[in-house]
Amino acid sequence: MKTYSCETHIDHALDMHVAETENFPMMDLLSEEEKLSTTCSYCEQSATYVVSSK
Ligand SMILES: [Zn+2]
Repeated sequence: MKTYSCETHIDHALDMHVAETENFPMMDLLSEEEKLSTTCSYCEQSATYVVSSK
């Protein structure tokens, strides 16, 4: 499972990831190219982070 998030929603994204997967979340910055093509899972902004489990 991967969740994309903007700066505003990263705390929420981490909480939701833990709630849904019960795994410790890994947080990575998106590359500039990925930022342009990816939107936040919780709003219309460009995503800055990707949250995933290892
Ligand atoms: Zn957002």
